[in-house]
Amino acid sequence: MRNTVAIKIDHPERAKGLNRLLYKCPRCGTEGKMEARGVTLSCSTCGKSWYLNEQSHLEGIDDRTEFSEISEWLRWERDIVRERIRNGTYYFEDTVRIETLNNSQEIYKQSEGKLVQTPDGTTLTCYSQPMTVEKPALSLESMHVEYDYLGQGDCVEISGPNENLLCYLTKKDVLTQLSIATEEIYIYANEKREQEMLAILNNNKENENGDNKG
Ligand SMILES: [Zn+2]
Repeated sequence: MRNTVAIKIDHPERAKGLNRLLYKCPRCGTEGKMEARGVTLSCSTCGKSWYLNEQSHLEGIDDRTEFSEISEWLRWERDIVRERIRNGTYYFEDTVRIETLNNSQEIYKQSEGKLVQTPDGTTLTCYSQPMTVEKPALSLESMHVEYDYLGQGDCVEISGPNENLLCYLTKKDVLTQLSIATEEIYIYANEKREQEMLAILNNNKENENGDNKG
């Protein structure tokens, strides 16, 4: 007998929104084509479906179950993003609708722009102002994301030079990846910085030793 408390969720719409988290199909690898309806999650590219049972475990319908735990599926998505960041192939780009907020969080300007994310960091280009907000890897530890913010769509919040910018994405179900990538870009940049500092320290020590010998 397992010592875990099983929480039963028998809501008929319990899979709703799962496509936002589980954005990548483990069968065909397509991203942003997952659909969640009722108690099932399916990929509109390859047609595979998963049933979300009342214990919140996934079961592959008429096929194998790649991940029965939502957390395993998320970990798999993170592993792929991390690998792309570390081998330099990670690249995200999307057209965004930008709302500029004043100090009272009221929208006072709207414009269009482009959000780009690479292993070096995140850049937002605003077309109308014109303005570019750059967030190098070490300056952004995490991304503030809002799933369907006030019914207006998925957005990320980026702090500009004088105000906060809400950027509504055009692409479907990219917030989870953006969130994971921002964290992994920061972690990797931090690791590289530590290695560089260690290398400098070791170099100095070697030089000191060399001086002592000479
Ligand atoms: Zn698929």
